[in-house]
Amino acid sequence: MYDYVVVGAGVVGMSTAYHLKRFSPNARVLVIDQNPSVGMGDTAKSAAAFRTIFTSWANRILAKTSVQFYRDVQLSGVDLGMKWVGYLFLVPEEASQLFTQTASELRQMGISVEMYRQLDKSIKFDLATDEEAREMGLPNVSFALLVKDAGIMDPEKLVRYYYEMYVGAGGEVMYNTRVETVLFAPKRPLEIPGEPFPWQEVRAVGVETTAGPIEAKNVILATGAWTETLAGRMGFGLPIRPRKRQVFVVRADGELRTLLEMGLSDSQWSPVIILPRGIYLRPEPGEGTFWIGMSDRRPYGFEERAEAEESLWRFGIYPVLSKYVPAFENRVPQSAWAGHYDENVIDYQPIVDRLAEGLYVAAGTSGSGIMKADAVGRIAASLALGRGKAELYGGVAVGSGALRRNRCFEEERLVI
Ligand SMILES: Cc1cc2nc3c(=O)[nH]c(=O)nc-3n(C[C@H](O)[C@H](O)[C@H](O)COP(=O)(O)OP(=O)(O)OC[C@H]3O[C@@H](n4cnc5c(N)ncnc54)[C@H](O)[C@@H]3O)c2cc1C
Repeated sequence: MYDYVVVGAGVVGMSTAYHLKRFSPNARVLVIDQNPSVGMGDTAKSAAAFRTIFTSWANRILAKTSVQFYRDVQLSGVDLGMKWVGYLFLVPEEASQLFTQTASELRQMGISVEMYRQLDKSIKFDLATDEEAREMGLPNVSFALLVKDAGIMDPEKLVRYYYEMYVGAGGEVMYNTRVETVLFAPKRPLEIPGEPFPWQEVRAVGVETTAGPIEAKNVILATGAWTETLAGRMGFGLPIRPRKRQVFVVRADGELRTLLEMGLSDSQWSPVIILPRGIYLRPEPGEGTFWIGMSDRRPYGFEERAEAEESLWRFGIYPVLSKYVPAFENRVPQSAWAGHYDENVIDYQPIVDRLAEGLYVAAGTSGSGIMKADAVGRIAASLALGRGKAELYGGVAVGSGALRRNRCFEEERLVI
């Protein structure tokens, strides 16, 4: 009999499990995953860029406290692969008002932002003389906005850090095991066959898995893009939908090498560059490559064996990328992969909530779960432990119900 079963050994599940053991060292905690090791779901597929700038209060506090925690872990000598390369938004004409306003809000908060009217010649701001770009309706870039409190990290090192801390504290893990459903029992059993009946009040008492039933007093679903299906199977509706996301890897040689080495922040490496039309370039200095992705508005849905589509590169990314950064002309990706965002379709922010007595969910990280995992894990652990408040890193206190599904948050304006 476990006190807590956490379903999912991704960064959210491992952060939750670690904080559970930290807050309650004597609790018996088990993490279950269908994969053969830790962090093999979308955590491994991530571009793992981080920033602490968001327009919504909740996103900001989740990212800021998590990134501060990771920074201090790395300063203590554990390499999480953090590099403070910054984020560079190439602001299209139509968004210049929004970004000017956002920049002044950020400055008022004490966050350092810099504006550039032009940059390294490899990035084109003015497409007016390019007839093809005009035909495509591509906007000129008004200015570029550099946010320094941002960068890239290694998600596998992060999830492994949580895993090692958790196992070191006596936490248990079970791999290659799929949770089929959560088991419920009546709160007032009548000891007659067929219980629980639809009219009985129930509580979660464990999980049914491919390795048989496992008893637990509490179950936490940290199942990322699988959450909609698993929770739906039990009749719980959540506004979380999986959306396929892809990353294409292009070698940075020749002119692209110069771009890769265009350090604008506290690092010698290029910032994460966000182009108009939702395309981003993420430097990977270790490999000497750029990782390139696009937040296209494609249909929601889960693909069991998601693979990158050549057509997204060829017709979606390449035509735009090669206009703003001509050094990408005639380049082809050397490799690519695909995963899913688990998107909260209402406000693009995570959900941590109680679904039934003894059953909790921590998911919906909407494409920014690496940079928020520490705070989400602390809130999920606090909620499952029955604490009214969660203490985020640096002593910031929030209600454990702050991320409940029926909250009303302001809409995030800086979604990538
Ligand atoms: C292409 C891409 C780029 C991204 N870029 C960024 C970025 O730049 N910055 C950032 O912060 N975030 C980014 N993200 C998002 C980030 O990767 C996710 O938010 C984060 O990894 C979610 O973690 P998780 O633990 O919730 O999910 P996962 O890592 O997917 O973990 C869920 C786990 O649950 C397990 N599981 C599910 N169902 C069951 C079941 N029934 N039984 C047993 N096990 C089960 C799965 O096997 C999986 O291991 C990106 C994601 C993608 C796909």
